[in-house]
Amino acid sequence: MRQKTSHLLSVSDAHTEITSRVTAVSETETLPLEQALQRVLAEDVISKINVPPHRNSAMDGFAFKAIPDQLEQLSIIGNAYAGKPFTGQVGTGECVRIMTGAALPPDTDSVVIQENVTVENNKIHFTAPPEPGRNVRDAGSDIKEGKIISTRGQRLSAADLGVLASTGITHVRVFREINIGIINNGDELKIPGETLAYGEIYNSNRYTLSGLLQRPGIQITDFGVVRDNPDTIEQVFQQAGDSMDVIISSGGVSVGDADHIGNLLHELGECYFSKVAVKPGKPLTFGRFQNSWFFGLPGNPVSVMVTFYIFVLPALRRLMGETPKMPLQLNASCTGLLRKKPGREDYQRGIFKTEPDGSLSVTGSGLQESHRLSSMAQANCLIVLPADSGDVQPGTPVRIIPFTEFH
Ligand code: AMP
Ligand code: MG
Repeated sequence: MRQKTSHLLSVSDAHTEITSRVTAVSETETLPLEQALQRVLAEDVISKINVPPHRNSAMDGFAFKAIPDQLEQLSIIGNAYAGKPFTGQVGTGECVRIMTGAALPPDTDSVVIQENVTVENNKIHFTAPPEPGRNVRDAGSDIKEGKIISTRGQRLSAADLGVLASTGITHVRVFREINIGIINNGDELKIPGETLAYGEIYNSNRYTLSGLLQRPGIQITDFGVVRDNPDTIEQVFQQAGDSMDVIISSGGVSVGDADHIGNLLHELGECYFSKVAVKPGKPLTFGRFQNSWFFGLPGNPVSVMVTFYIFVLPALRRLMGETPKMPLQLNASCTGLLRKKPGREDYQRGIFKTEPDGSLSVTGSGLQESHRLSSMAQANCLIVLPADSGDVQPGTPVRIIPFTEFH
């Protein structure tokens, strides 16, 4: 039997190993804005217009030209609506009734809100001294013509789509979708709905993994369950390695006698690492098989989720062209004892909340063994404990990463 020893990589070295290899796909596609949410821009986008395009009113009121020794009364000579500007001239002693968003008549420079005037006989009377230039939005005050509004590598949010639309853009060029194959390995796995024989369990990783991967820009192919048989595993890998950008497997990468995936990678592909000083997830394996990047996740359901968030997701984002950014880490005071042995970087499941004084506190979400997926379902963050840390006493500040960072 092949000796399954390999170097235990630190979390940061494992990240470096991944980021030094995985780069963005080169192909792009053009999409209408309405299909581009959460897709990654493949080029900078420049605004061809000012937003707003014209100087306009920020309030409902009356537009006038401010002068020194402002007259106390002005005659109303017309109306300006959003989309229906007033086109006449506005002279001294005159004003125009104006609505929010209506273009400011060219001879005017200020708007008094209707609450600050009284209206009688088609004249307004200021009830407070008017302020020159008030309640006016200048052309280009949001976006100037020629400005870069979105950049290559940006994953488009709802706000980004709105910004792009506000400049009149209809289509954007984004990186193409990536194809990801899921393989679940294990003789013990049954599909929910089937009856469990003694020693069998339901394949939960399939559901967690496909749930984690359901994102715009990703096409998932489920290669099903492969049994603990080297030949069957090889067949499925040959098939997936031909057609997928990425293969993600669960199970079979540890050092047990039925763990064949690591061996297969060593023999038929390239293995860049197969042990990381992380808890949970030590047997995490990264390599290349035919045309695919390969992530071999351990079988334990919590290890699957943690290694996906910490290692796989950043790699997928790089592959999809996204500009790398670190997940936000927050400081929170831990409310109970957190058990930890020095040696590996721990990602414990936690429940954090805002205290009445605005500070954050975090509680471990129960026992931390890596088969207890329910602790993950209850949690809303990962608590990051450095490799050299031992037990963490109540009241100690710790770093947390909210799960929202992995959306
Ligand atoms: P392995 O990494 O293959 O040694 O599996 C580690 C643990 O994870 C074992 O207890 C397996 O039964 C369990 N496991 C493996 N695959 C799955 C799966 N797809 N769903 C749920 N548990 C799994
Ligand atoms: Mg197994």
